[in-house]
Amino acid sequence: MSKVVVVATRNKGKLKEFRAMLEPNGYEVKGIDDIDATLPDVVEDADTFEGNALKKAREFSKALGVAVVSDDSGLCVDALGGAPGVYSARYAGENAGDEANLAKVLAELKGDTSPGQYVCVLAYVDGEQEVVVRGECEGELITERRGTGGFGYDPIFYVEQYGHTMAELTMEEKNAISHRALALKRLISQLTL
Ligand code: IMP
Repeated sequence: MSKVVVVATRNKGKLKEFRAMLEPNGYEVKGIDDIDATLPDVVEDADTFEGNALKKAREFSKALGVAVVSDDSGLCVDALGGAPGVYSARYAGENAGDEANLAKVLAELKGDTSPGQYVCVLAYVDGEQEVVVRGECEGELITERRGTGGFGYDPIFYVEQYGHTMAELTMEEKNAISHRALALKRLISQLTL
C-alpha cells in the first residue's frame, strides 16, 4: 500500500512535479483540494521563502490534523535586485496569473538578459517535528518565451546545461536539476516519510 504525502498547495504545476518525483517511489501525493477544497488559503505575508513555507505547513497541518509538506518557491532575477522573489506568484497582481507575471518580468528586463535563480523551500510539519530545506537552480532569463512545458516563468528560464528553457524540458529532465527536486532530495534525506 502506498504512503500518502500531503503537499500543502493548490498549484497544479507543483503538484504534477511532486507526483512525478514521489509516485515512482511508492508515495501517493495529495494536494489541499484533494482533502478539503473548502479550506481557506494561508496568507503568505512573510518576507522570506522560509517564513512563508513554515507558515503554510504549520497552518495546514493544524487545520487538517496530519503531517504536511509545503512548498514556497519563486524566481529571483539578478538584474531586478532579486525580484520577484517571494512575490513570484502574484507579481503582476493578486489574481493576475502566470502569463501576466512572466510578461511583467520581461517588461522590466527591457530586452536584456539576466542571470537568475529559482528557489524552493520545503517545510515539513507533523505537530512534533519541523524540518525546513532549500534548493536552488541557476539559469539565465532570456528575452523571448521558448517552450510550452512546465509552469510559471519556465518559458523564459534558460538552463545552460541543457541548452533549453525549463519549458522545453521533459518533466524528467526538469526534475533532474530543479530547485524543487533538490529541496525534495534534501528533505527525504532528513526524514523518513
Ligand atoms: P508560491 O505558491 O507562493 O510558492 O509561488 C510560487 C510561484 O513561483 C509560482 O506561482 C511561479 O510563479 C514561481 N515558480 C516556482 N517554482 C517554479 C517553477 O518550477 N517554474 C516556474 N515558476 C516557478
